[in-house]
Amino acid sequence: MRVNMKTNDGSIARVLDGVAIAAEIKAEVAIEVARLKEQGVVPGLAVILVGEVPASQIYVRSKVKTCGELGIYSEMLTPPEAITTAEMLKLVAELNAREDIDGILIQLPLPAHVDTKRLLEAVVPEKDVDGFHPINAGRLQSGQAALAPCTPAGIIEILKRSGIAIAGKHAVVVGRSDIVGKPVAMMLLNASATVTICHSRTVDLPGFTRGADILVAAIGRPGFITAEMVQPGATLIDVGINRITDAAEVARLFPGNAARDEGFRKRGSTVVGDIEPAAFALSGAYTPVPGGVGALTIAMLMQNTVTAAKARRGIAIHAVAGA
Ligand code: NAP
Repeated sequence: MRVNMKTNDGSIARVLDGVAIAAEIKAEVAIEVARLKEQGVVPGLAVILVGEVPASQIYVRSKVKTCGELGIYSEMLTPPEAITTAEMLKLVAELNAREDIDGILIQLPLPAHVDTKRLLEAVVPEKDVDGFHPINAGRLQSGQAALAPCTPAGIIEILKRSGIAIAGKHAVVVGRSDIVGKPVAMMLLNASATVTICHSRTVDLPGFTRGADILVAAIGRPGFITAEMVQPGATLIDVGINRITDAAEVARLFPGNAARDEGFRKRGSTVVGDIEPAAFALSGAYTPVPGGVGALTIAMLMQNTVTAAKARRGIAIHAVAGA
């Protein structure tokens, strides 16, 4: 259950429930998959998981499980850690050529000896369900229909489905990674926000974040955006997923939060975003961690797989991402 948070002026900060929005999207995808089945089409996703990275194994299992729930065919390929770039390129080429595979996902990170950029570019753009191929990045930038990266696309879905206006608003994105910061900034721009992108070399970061109507934090530092750095009433989108193990940090970020204390005592760690929880109380609306942006990523992957399956067969594709 999601509980709205009482703000400093007594109003209620709205929780943007990523789990509920993801469930809505998955239900829509399942309907679309059933429709495609009537036309003899079963969307197919291939996931390549190299080596034995425990976090990656959890993510991949969860992607495969969701495919099963929605009626999407999935296949997991698990080459050993020692696989070379050349061998990986061969694997990708085989998947590119297969008629029954609509989406190819290479779970990151790859071992250091494998050329990640080369591999991501080897996936044909029409099967690039992660939206990482330069052709899809370019299409997104030029406002054409594209397979868009899942986490940024999920952020736009959260805003739109929650009725939060984007056009004309000042959106400040902290973080400029290729997988979150840059694409979400582009999608917000496509949706007619005025966009500022900040990063580690930005001078006077609080001066920018305090001017944000919509603040997207994609930094990877627990509670980095403090209450003093946000404009009261702003929409706060917290992309960060940081596992913290220091009891003092938990006490600082979650003072008087019995549920967090109990979870921390049981597991020895807790997950926190890039925005300190005290800032949420000042906001108009915010995505919690966990249960916010993170919940959308797999739903958007499923949507991209169906979009790819349709586009490859000339069935109408989704609208331009962010538009
Ligand atoms: P990343 O590639 O490490 O990028 C982090 C960005 O934050 C960089 O652009 C960096 O600036 C900026 N940054 C670092 N320190 C800063 C500072 N002191 N002030 C201002 N900017 C600073 O990370 P990412 O892959 O984008 O991921 C960001 C967070 O989102 C992580 O916690 C990650 O786990 C999470 N994430 C969640 C999902 C999901 O929900 N499914 C998906 C992806 C990522 P420079 O470019 O100048 O170094």
